[in-house]
Amino acid sequence: MKEMEGKVAVVTGSSRGIGRAIALGLALQGAKVVVNHRASSEQAAEVVAAIQAQGGEAVAMAADVSDFDQAQQLVKTTISSLGSIDILVNNAGTTRDKLLMQMKEADWDAVLNTNVKSVFNCCKAAVRPMLRARRGGRIINISSVSGLVGQVGQTNYSASKAGIIGLTYALAKELGSRQITVNAVAPGYIPTVLTEGLPQEIKDAITQATPLGRFGRSDDIANAVVFLASDRAAFITGITLRVDGGLAIGS
Ligand code: NDP
Repeated sequence: MKEMEGKVAVVTGSSRGIGRAIALGLALQGAKVVVNHRASSEQAAEVVAAIQAQGGEAVAMAADVSDFDQAQQLVKTTISSLGSIDILVNNAGTTRDKLLMQMKEADWDAVLNTNVKSVFNCCKAAVRPMLRARRGGRIINISSVSGLVGQVGQTNYSASKAGIIGLTYALAKELGSRQITVNAVAPGYIPTVLTEGLPQEIKDAITQATPLGRFGRSDDIANAVVFLASDRAAFITGITLRVDGGLAIGS
């Protein structure tokens, strides 16, 4: 029997990139996976097909998780169609990089709403059913090295990713007695749609500043998330696991 058989996982923003790898990784362990996305339905359908091709079970669900009601509906539909919610991975995220001097209020709001309000929204929707089910649970929030050390041009993004860490620690304390663990994962630089627009000199500087001397892969992040979602991580809560090739400590 696979480790996560009988478990249901929701992975927000899993139509591509890191979320896609997490969805595939959880499904490989036997979890039924909800592939959430906002607009990229075709890509989400491709992820579902890839999971099915590896013998797993998945369903695509569109919902803008920065919207409170849509996040509620996402969890409700998950439970009505798949029976429970055992693992919540808050992965959906976005950037609108600009120096603070040039940053518009809309840039701030868009990033904070997508990156951190979404985590509140989905946790708020998922926690009550997890508690009622009395079978513990796993919440894993995707932060970033930028939330730990800050990044030029990313006051909005860094604030959102640091906010996720504070939320994670507070919620870990609230839910610990019910065996629901809450952890954050802080990736370093991973080539995805989110990061493809970065200028080459910044990419080179990041590689140089990374002790392991390379970019990460979406699977590097997925491996950490799958571990934290597993029974093997049952005594781990309230941590930020850096998966960054050492970027945060510098070269
Ligand atoms: P991508 O841009 O490749 O993927 C983002 C995913 O999030 C897409 O599936 C997108 O779908 C979805 N999404 C965005 N907004 C919403 C929303 N409001 N509601 C639902 N889904 C949404 O990004 P990555 O894979 O690179 O990033 C994944 C996470 O990892 C993010 O939280 C990011 O901040 C974090 N991270 C990434 C790093 C990197 O180097 N790539 C480094 C550190 C952290 P759609 O297009 O349909 O909206």
